[in-house]
Amino acid sequence: MPSPTSSDPIISSLLQLELTRQRQGLELIPSENFVSLAVLEALGSIATNKYAEGQPGRRYYGGCEFIDEIEKLAIERAKQLFGAEHVNVQPLSGAPANLAAYVALLQPGDTVLGMDLSHGGHLTHGHPVTFMASIYNFVRYKTADDGTIDYDNLRAMAIEHKPKLILVGYSAYSREIDYTRIKQIADEVGAYTMADIAHIAGLIAAGEMNNPVPLFDIVTTTTHKTLRGPRGGMIMCKKEHAKAVNKAVFPGLQGGPHENVIAAKAVAFSEALRPEFKEYARQIKKNAKILEEEFKNRGYKICFGGTDNHLLLIDVMSSKNITGQEAEVALDKAGITLNKNMIPDDPRGPMDPSGIRLGTPAITTRGMKEEEMKQIAAWIDEAITSKDDEIKLADIKNRVKELTDRFPLYPNLKY
Ligand SMILES: *Cc1c(COP(=O)(O)O)cnc(C)c1O
Repeated sequence: MPSPTSSDPIISSLLQLELTRQRQGLELIPSENFVSLAVLEALGSIATNKYAEGQPGRRYYGGCEFIDEIEKLAIERAKQLFGAEHVNVQPLSGAPANLAAYVALLQPGDTVLGMDLSHGGHLTHGHPVTFMASIYNFVRYKTADDGTIDYDNLRAMAIEHKPKLILVGYSAYSREIDYTRIKQIADEVGAYTMADIAHIAGLIAAGEMNNPVPLFDIVTTTTHKTLRGPRGGMIMCKKEHAKAVNKAVFPGLQGGPHENVIAAKAVAFSEALRPEFKEYARQIKKNAKILEEEFKNRGYKICFGGTDNHLLLIDVMSSKNITGQEAEVALDKAGITLNKNMIPDDPRGPMDPSGIRLGTPAITTRGMKEEEMKQIAAWIDEAITSKDDEIKLADIKNRVKELTDRFPLYPNLKY
């Protein structure tokens, strides 16, 4: 295939620089991953040319016979992966998928019980800066001192506030979730249940974490995190909500679906149905556990007591007297990418919080295993404890490059 950007040398050279950055760095942002060439190809396909508003078989445009087959396959494969009764693969990303779920189940002014943001919840779960927070009334539960969700507190909040919806699913939470318990509480107060599995969808699809889909009213996800598909969203729900969900997505919130992305979702789902993907998900968890041990051995405080999934939230402030921002900057200089993050009830602000968040999905895709995890933890510790030593940080960066060179990324790709 000719370089798609050969007619635009400026974009082409920027893409090449970004490719080099991705190749040479250690990508530890837990919401990122590297898609297969098959997914990339579907994303860059001619399916982007087609308007297909509506559902397969019931479109507002002609010429949808092949697009229909593509979208139906994406839906069928998602159903198979998660055991879903109904699937809508059209949401453009995770945030619009969540908004569509709210629109499907709620009226303006309704109360939603979700997790406190500093305890791992996502912006779209009612952060005051979002538009959603001006439409719905969000109230919050928290995690307990032992790192589990405080189910008793959740139940007490549910009884007090009588929410229309109870929301679980997080961006910075590292433990397993007891969906059965939450469903019981929701039933007790007559609330709908929603799980946002954006981060852990790949682990759930592989059978490596509990699956809320058979239990909950609505489950939303992104397709580009552990699920390793194109950037996009998806909603799964019980049959009884199918109409409301479809209507909320289109015409409620969106216009024409991005059918090239839907083709890429179908490709990613078929990859996730293969045995190699189960092996991948197991390794993600194994790698995260090794990092947990290595950091604990070096005196780091792991929030929530440890990890059951792909990520770790580390309180670097109380462990090493360095802020999340300082750690992020130092690690960037060492070729290691992760993000600063609030810790539960963080006394510091979001731009310079007490913690860092890191995860293993992307480096596991590159083929890294236990031995590399030990090395990576050692480098992170070295960079954090010598954050002002530019020479040391540059030296780690060189060593990071030597390591990543041994795990080629898109070896034949060139822009
Ligand atoms: C990433 C994430 C989202 C948002 O997804 P976008 O694709 O960035 O819009 C929503 N919810 C959770 C829990 C997430 O982690």
